Amino acid sequence: LRLDVGSEGLRARALVRAPGGVHSNVRLRGPHPFIRSAKGAWLFGVDGRDYVDYLLGQGPNFLGHAPDAVVQAVSAACEGGLLYGGQHELEVQAAELVCEVAGWPEMVRFSTSGTEAVQAALRVARAATGRTEIVRFQGHYHGWVDNILVGERGGDWGVASDGQVADNLRPCHILPWNDAELLTAQFEQYGSRLAAVIMEPIMINTGVIEPKPGYLETVRELCNRYGVVLIFDEVISGFRVGLGGAAQRYGVTPDLATYGKAFAGGYPVAALVGRSDLMSQLSTGAVNHSGTFNASVMAMAAVTATLTTLRDRPPYASVEEHGLALMAGLRDIAAKHDVQLRVAGLPAAFHMSFGDADVTDYRSLQKLDLARYERLAAALVDNGIWLAGRGIWYVSGAHGPRELDVALTRFDKTLGEWALKVE
Ligand code: PMP
Repeated sequence: LRLDVGSEGLRARALVRAPGGVHSNVRLRGPHPFIRSAKGAWLFGVDGRDYVDYLLGQGPNFLGHAPDAVVQAVSAACEGGLLYGGQHELEVQAAELVCEVAGWPEMVRFSTSGTEAVQAALRVARAATGRTEIVRFQGHYHGWVDNILVGERGGDWGVASDGQVADNLRPCHILPWNDAELLTAQFEQYGSRLAAVIMEPIMINTGVIEPKPGYLETVRELCNRYGVVLIFDEVISGFRVGLGGAAQRYGVTPDLATYGKAFAGGYPVAALVGRSDLMSQLSTGAVNHSGTFNASVMAMAAVTATLTTLRDRPPYASVEEHGLALMAGLRDIAAKHDVQLRVAGLPAAFHMSFGDADVTDYRSLQKLDLARYERLAAALVDNGIWLAGRGIWYVSGAHGPRELDVALTRFDKTLGEWALKVE
């Protein structure tokens, strides 16, 4: 299997056969060395380097890489066949576990990606309300497809990609997040035309920003008053900020939610969950949701093993301990080098950037020097800390004292070199 040409050689070959040399555009701006293997909190590169991993595959490896329980469950399940085109025992167990462990959901539909789970959520909400318009928020990410991907181009919010059909976004109001007054005023104008409000209940994708106290309650209340379906996109926050995700953390229950990433130990699977009166619209076929690979044997084994582990041996206390120590250590090192670094968010997922600001939404986040941080992140990867350029650090249950020590030592060295450099 080994090509033995090193990262440079692999990259040259990758560029010939894959656009940009990658298979997800998110990776275009990410770390570049090629990886050969991973275990626990570590990645091992083809060039013989190791990396303490705080990207966790963009979040899924919440139990660390290749957790024994998940690898063994998936391998054992595979022996009995990969995909049946029929129902099986594991999918029943997995659905029951999702509801039991998360607490509030009543029914589940599995899919293979978060993008798909979001699409199913929007369709269910539109079918239930007979309405098409939705509210979504600046900086929140809900997948890459036409009807939900947005970006800011030349000061205007709209399509984020060439080739994206702007008409598909038309039933979509793109609002600043965390502003209860503004949302209330918007609802007064068109609340009765809305099918759904969709949000990351913690805006992790852009800055790891928590909801202001009372904000989620206001959204919940507005949705109740106008008959609008509230969708929490918990693809990142679900099972990461606690077993019950953000819904439990803030005590606000949505009507529908999407899960992915942390609930399957690195395996590609996602889910739409929610109240049974909404979800059961999918039971007749009048509201369609399908997928050849939905609830595959491997996916269901991964979900079952991961959720059993999260329930019976919860990593949350150790994630919190590591995350808090790491955040404090990073701040101390920055202060020592006289560098103004901002480290904010939650221990399980925090955000780092240069500068300082009162950050509550997408706009205020832009006051930080995000571009400069992206250059630091590249230098950190060179020095053995694996990170995305957009500021997020993810902590897993596999991060312990040794990783803390190595990460802080490597961070100190990088900032030392950085401080000497004239940019
Ligand atoms: N929703 C959120 C909140 C996400 O963070 C992501 C992926 N980062 C998605 C949806 C889409 O998930 P996927 O990449 O599995 O399609």
